[in-house]
Amino acid sequence: MNNKTIRSIKGTQDILPEESIKWQSLENEIRKITSHYGYEEIRTPAFEQTKLFSRGVGEETDIVSKEMYSWTDQGGENLTLKPELTASVARAYIQHNLGLVSPVNKLYYIDALFRRERPQKGRYRQFHQFGVEAFGSEHPEIDAEVIALAISIFYSVGLEELQLNINSIGSPECRKNYRIALQEFLKPHFSNLSETSQKRFNNNPLRILDTKAPHEINILNDAPIISNYWTDEDETHFKKVIEYLDILEIKYQLMPRLVRGLDYYTRTTFEITSSNLGAQDAICGGGRYDGLVEMLGGKPTPGIGFAAGMERLLLAIKNNQSKKNKVQIYIVGLGDNARGTVIKLAEELRQQNIATEFDVLRRSLKAQLREANKMDVSYAIIIGDKELESNQLELKNFSTGDQQKIELNKIVDHMNSLSF
Ligand code: AMP
Repeated sequence: MNNKTIRSIKGTQDILPEESIKWQSLENEIRKITSHYGYEEIRTPAFEQTKLFSRGVGEETDIVSKEMYSWTDQGGENLTLKPELTASVARAYIQHNLGLVSPVNKLYYIDALFRRERPQKGRYRQFHQFGVEAFGSEHPEIDAEVIALAISIFYSVGLEELQLNINSIGSPECRKNYRIALQEFLKPHFSNLSETSQKRFNNNPLRILDTKAPHEINILNDAPIISNYWTDEDETHFKKVIEYLDILEIKYQLMPRLVRGLDYYTRTTFEITSSNLGAQDAICGGGRYDGLVEMLGGKPTPGIGFAAGMERLLLAIKNNQSKKNKVQIYIVGLGDNARGTVIKLAEELRQQNIATEFDVLRRSLKAQLREANKMDVSYAIIIGDKELESNQLELKNFSTGDQQKIELNKIVDHMNSLSF
């Protein structure tokens, strides 16, 4: 490769056929299972107004403050490639009055996102998520349904050793009180906190709980826990979620210090990790965001959802058995006169939903049969001058080695009558 060759951008990936087949099978499974749970697909644009994310995700989050791909376009609009989906889906929900169409809206997406993070295995600058968002119910039944849906998809695609970590970060009232308590607790340790945590101390002290620094984790061991600040309703809600998980026989780990980096989350918060992954072991993060729709200008509407990273899922799925779509028939064409007949016959067979290939390199009989063999086809049809003259094509069965003659105008019906 010389230095004039244009390469892809750091942190982005090409998904070549060998890989895309795995993506397709994962996507098919996601679509199948979400539909069993009554979720319908929503597709939103790749870019949105920047203020959707600064308002919907929060100025002081890493995503908004450091990682967005934003620009001002020729018309002076501030635009951003979407770094997450919940704000976009909520925007669409409000814009299209989906709440008037139905009291509960259950939506799912499979989409590409953009964050300027430091690339490493399992972490990219363009990556993909699938996720669900359920709007309209504040009740714990839907929390349990959303979690069950995530788990069900992960198991069905062959993930093992899943761990569901769950917590409730309460209502805004609870968080207000907890925030004060946490600041009180952290005040004497302020000078020992990292620069990032010192910044978060005023803006968003709950996010200090996200720290990965061992000395901070140590300090935080004695920090107050949010459950002591739940309102009675918060507590009842969380206990019900847990009760339903028990009924569904879904195992979980209570994580009193699990909070989410995004501002709009309320009450149920969860993440699912897999020990099949290394350092980046989080497959999925989710929770309730009862305040989001209102914050974005809609009517107060409760919501809950999760987002799972597709690349991480694919990394975690061992022995992905996806098979290439099999070519069933290879038409061997020999000589100029045969080419029109070959292309027409291939088209007719394809119209009958029979996967058919033919040679476009004008190779020899031997080379074409070798190619057919490599493709592991069921049959080859041979068409050359001799066959055109006699109107009898040569049909070779690749599994038995048998060869027979079939009339040109009967071949499509004949192939249709066979099972592949
Ligand atoms: P988040 O939207 O940050 O809660 O992330 C949800 C899930 O998306 C994570 O659990 C990961 O599986 C995945 N994810 C987040 N960021 C990246 C990234 N930069 N590259 C690949 N996957 C990611």
